[in-house]
Amino acid sequence: MCIFCKIVNNEIPSNKLLENDDFIAFHDLYPKAPVHVLVIPKVHVECFQDVQAEMMGKMTTFIQEVATLIGIDKSGYRLITNNGEDGGQEVKHLHFHLLGGAKLPFEHLTDETHKNL
Ligand code: 5GP
Ligand code: ZN
Repeated sequence: MCIFCKIVNNEIPSNKLLENDDFIAFHDLYPKAPVHVLVIPKVHVECFQDVQAEMMGKMTTFIQEVATLIGIDKSGYRLITNNGEDGGQEVKHLHFHLLGGAKLPFEHLTDETHKNL
């Protein structure tokens, strides 16, 4: 069973913010911004490429609710999903990174970086 399925099953602890029948939002263990929340479906879906549109519709609403709950809906945020090997996905259970709480740099995707790939 993957690490996020264990979080869903409460086999390993997590700092949960919001939960419904389908999704959970919890704080990332190694935050990369003042606010760094992970949003996952309770069922195991490996990555964004595998997710059904119907689930994404519900997940969109849930992520919007989380952003409002933690007070970054107006100030803004970045929503990221890493997909597969080249996307740098480490945990193979679909998750969205909800990042905010400060004006976030975008340095990893500059023209200069692109030239060096
Ligand atoms: P990925 O690189 O797959 O897009 O992101 C995986 C994320 O999961 C990373 O930001 C990492 O810090 C986070 N993470 C890994 N293991 C755990 C854990 O056991 N608990 C929590 N809350 N976050 C985790
Ligand atoms: Zn899983």
